[in-house]
Amino acid sequence: MELIDPFGRTVRDLRISITDRCNFRCTYCMPAEGMKWLPRTEVLSYEELHRLASICVNHFDVDGIRLTGGEPTMRAHLPVLVQKLAGLIVPATANSPRAGKPIDLAITTNGATLRLIAQELREAGLERINISIDTLKRERFYEMTRRDELEHVLDGIDAAIAAGFSPVKLNAVVQRGINEDEIVDLATFGRNKGIEVRFIEFMPLDAQGTWENNQVVGQDEIVAAIAAVYPLELMPARGAAPADRWRYLDGKGTVGVIPSVTKPFCGDCDRVRLTADGQFRTCLFSTNEFDLRAMLREGASDDAIAAEIKRAVGTKWAGHNIGNVTFVRPRRSMSQIGG
Ligand code: SAM
Ligand code: SF4
Repeated sequence: MELIDPFGRTVRDLRISITDRCNFRCTYCMPAEGMKWLPRTEVLSYEELHRLASICVNHFDVDGIRLTGGEPTMRAHLPVLVQKLAGLIVPATANSPRAGKPIDLAITTNGATLRLIAQELREAGLERINISIDTLKRERFYEMTRRDELEHVLDGIDAAIAAGFSPVKLNAVVQRGINEDEIVDLATFGRNKGIEVRFIEFMPLDAQGTWENNQVVGQDEIVAAIAAVYPLELMPARGAAPADRWRYLDGKGTVGVIPSVTKPFCGDCDRVRLTADGQFRTCLFSTNEFDLRAMLREGASDDAIAAEIKRAVGTKWAGHNIGNVTFVRPRRSMSQIGG
């Protein structure tokens, strides 16, 4: 059965945060110190994660799952979870190109330890990988992430390419006055590696709550900077994917922008989210959560949990309202929700 929200959008994609912990402290995401981690007992076990994922796939034809966090590679034995989830099959009756096939399984990581586990993750059944890298300058990398890990992330990108992930993509958050001067350098880096860079507009989900509109470098400006050096052609509409994409006219690949702030794509959103402590959310910016962990641990049946997911999706709103006076920041920040 398809899961359709009040605005007619069909849910297809589940983002699962598997931990709120992280080995970086990116300034746009976390404070240097003082993040309060969830107690381990509150974090869903791999069995619990698999059960909820399986309900979404089997009851609601969800055909894509992305693992995120926090930093998902901080979870011990990650390949074990990947292998469990990679075994989920989209129902043959689903209205999906993946009907009868395994789900589309992806991960978003900061790449710091990827050189050590890329091959194992690939062998466990992970197909796609997004690696975050906002700068190619060592000093600046340290300033932005508060960790001196640029070399390891670069090695992680090479390890992901060598392991055969398809595709490998890079995520770069652009902030005014911080790294906007590297837009073209990052695009060039992606072109040379043969992988797509996706620039992300800075969103009001930093834990410190210091986001301001004037720190956002918008899609138009990002695309203009790249097109001035590498002529671009807009690719056909993105469907439910968050990135608008352009082709380099010289044939050297593609580049994307996720314009969450200047051109919200809520009208096409097909995503729902599960936090590391088992709270179901219908939007990154939602102020409402549905406690599936309590249901799991109280022995609720699959049907009862599916009914609660359906009820939650029945409350999904039309859009996030950033920039309007009515916008309310969610209680939890990006790393606590799962970006
Ligand atoms: N730790 C992993 C990583 O950094 O890739 C996965 C979780 S992280 C929250 C997911 C993505 O959200 C990353 O690409 C990160 O750069 C992005 N992100 C974090 N805070 C953000 C913010 N305030 N605005 C826009 N993107 C943000
Ligand atoms: Fe950690 Fe990712 Fe947040 Fe950076 S963006 S602090 S790597 S969760």
